[in-house]
Amino acid sequence: MSETLNPFKMAQAQLDEAARIMNLDEDIHAILREPRREFHVSIPVRMDDGKLKVFKGFRVQYNDARGPCKGGIRFHPGETIDTVRALAAWMTWKCAVVNIPLGGGKGGVICDPKEMSMKELEQLSRNYIQAIGRYIGPEIDVPAPDVYTNPQIMAWMADEYAKIRGYYAPGVITGKPVAIGGSLGRVDATSRGVLYTIREAAKKIGMELKGATVAIQGFGNVGSYAAKFLAEEGCKVVGIADIGGAFYNPEGFDIPKAMDYVLENGTLEGFNNVVNCEQLTPPEAILELDVDILVPAALEGQITEKNADKVKAKLLAEAANGPTTPEADKILRDKGVFVIPDFLCNAGGVTVSYFEQVQGNMNFFWSEEEVRERLEKIMKNAFWAVVETAEKYNVDNRMGAYIVSIARVAEAMKLRGWV
Ligand code: GLU
Repeated sequence: MSETLNPFKMAQAQLDEAARIMNLDEDIHAILREPRREFHVSIPVRMDDGKLKVFKGFRVQYNDARGPCKGGIRFHPGETIDTVRALAAWMTWKCAVVNIPLGGGKGGVICDPKEMSMKELEQLSRNYIQAIGRYIGPEIDVPAPDVYTNPQIMAWMADEYAKIRGYYAPGVITGKPVAIGGSLGRVDATSRGVLYTIREAAKKIGMELKGATVAIQGFGNVGSYAAKFLAEEGCKVVGIADIGGAFYNPEGFDIPKAMDYVLENGTLEGFNNVVNCEQLTPPEAILELDVDILVPAALEGQITEKNADKVKAKLLAEAANGPTTPEADKILRDKGVFVIPDFLCNAGGVTVSYFEQVQGNMNFFWSEEEVRERLEKIMKNAFWAVVETAEKYNVDNRMGAYIVSIARVAEAMKLRGWV
C-alpha cells in the first residue's frame, strides 16, 4: 500500500509540498505538521439486546490560530485516528481558504450506524459528548455533522452538552435542526458550495454546463444534493453510486426519484430494478465513466495512482474530503484535468456553519435567500483566490489552495507570537 493511502500521511505530504513551494518558515511548518491536541475516548452504550458495548471515539483539535476549532463528527466503521487527524488538518485549511475566523478540528467514532437502532445511536451521541464535553464549547471547539451524522444527532449532542453546562448553549455545535437554533440552508450548503465552484470552474475552462455529463460517487447528504443541483443546472447526471452499488444511465437520472428511493430503502441497492439503468461492476467504475464532470462525494483515498489515469472527466470537483492521493494528483495534472480541490470545493458546509454561529450569537436569523447569497459570494471569492494563486506560482489548484490557506494561518500564528 502506498504511504499516502494513510490519510494523515497524505495530508502531511500535501503540506510539505506547499511549504516547499511557498518557502514556508520552518518553525511554522513544524507546528503545522502535527495536531495541537487530541482526545481518545471510550464510549459505553447499553445496546438493545441488553449487552454493554464500548465504542472508541476521537476528537482532534488541529489548530486554533485563527479562531476556535471547527469540524464535523463522523460515525464510521472504518474510522481511525489518522483519518480524523487528516480531516482536522483539512478543516484548518478549509476555514482559512474561505477566510472565516475558525480553526480546524474533527471527531470520529468507530461504529456502524447502519446496524444501530435510533435508541442506540442516541445513547452513542450523548455518551460521546459526555466523554469530550469539557473540552469543547462555543469558544473552544465546535462540532458539526459529517459522514453518517445528521441534524438529529446534533440535537442530541447539544442537549447532552446543555446537561453538562446546566443551560442550553446552542453555539457548541452547528448543523442543528432549524427549530433549535440551526440555520436555514445548512442541510444542502456543502452541495450548493460544490455547485458554485463548479460554475466558476466551468467559466474558467470554457465548459457549457447545460448538457454536460456528470458522475457522482456517494449519494449521502452531499452527493445527492449535488446531483440535484447539477441536474437543475441543466447537467445530465449519468452516473450515481453509493454503498448499495453504482449505476449508469446515458439519458441522465431523475435525481429526486433516486433521492426518494434512498429515503425509503437506505441505499441505492436495487435501484436498477425500478429504473432503466446499468449496474456498474466493480462500483469504482463510476470514477472512470466518460463524463465531463466527476464528483467524488464519498470517502477519502478513492482516486489513486491505480485509477487516476483512467479518469476521463475534464473537471474533477472534490465534494468529499481527501478523495485524491498525491500520486494521483500528479497523474491528473499531466492529463490536464481541472481539479477543484476538496477543502475549497466542499467548504460551503462549514461556511454556513459559521453563518449559524453568527446568527445564533445575534439571536437573529436570516432568510434562506440571504444565506445562499452570502455563501455564493464567499465561494466565488475563494475559488478565484485559489486559481489566481495557482497561476502565480505555476502550480495545480490544490497547491494554490494550500498556499492561500497556509499563508493565512501562518500570519495568525506569527501575530499571536507562536513562533
Ligand atoms: N463536516 C463538514 C466538513 O467536512 C462541515 C464541518 C462544519 O460545519 O463544521 O466540512
